[in-house]
Amino acid sequence: SRVIGVLALQGAFIEHEKMLGKLGIRTVEIQQRGDLEQHFTGLVLPGGESTVQGKLLRDLNMLEPLRQLVAGGLPTFGTCAGLLLLAKHVEDGDTHLALMDITAKRNAYGRQLGSFFTHAEMTGIGTIPMTFIRAPYIESVGKNVQILSEVNGHIVAAQQGNMLVTSFHPELNDDLSVHRYFVNMTESGHSLDQAADIL
Ligand code: GLN
Repeated sequence: SRVIGVLALQGAFIEHEKMLGKLGIRTVEIQQRGDLEQHFTGLVLPGGESTVQGKLLRDLNMLEPLRQLVAGGLPTFGTCAGLLLLAKHVEDGDTHLALMDITAKRNAYGRQLGSFFTHAEMTGIGTIPMTFIRAPYIESVGKNVQILSEVNGHIVAAQQGNMLVTSFHPELNDDLSVHRYFVNMTESGHSLDQAADIL
């Protein structure tokens, strides 16, 4: 059955659980290494503070097993700090899972200007509300990465096979369409084949 794991160490994980709940999806919180052995068919990496999340993942010995799950094709949705956890290259920050072929710029809009709200188009979804909070953006992408949205000339959503990232927070608005898009990713068999590209 459909269960999505939500990394619940720090940040906006409860908001993701609520959004998925509205779509009828059961969630499990991932808080320690043993939780990774539960059955789940997708994974959410929430926003928050990537430095804190990265340190906790290392301290709890979760970074390697998590990396193996995502590299093995587990459909994974990273928002904001979650995007930074997935990025292979991070400007002004450390890398963590380092699986997605993107260069992310941390606190890209500056500390004061990084928080704003807008509406913009996301490929395959339509025009949606986008809330940015001390947001990163994606400076460049590798050839296997599909750009899904740009705001003011900066990439704010992208997908590489089983990995979906947004630099904004769809869990903080009541529009369910990005979560619905991700749930569809967890139901299509394609993600596992495409994961072969990153290994
Ligand atoms: N600036 C944060 C970081 O570096 C991300 C902010 C967020 O997730 N809203 O992790």
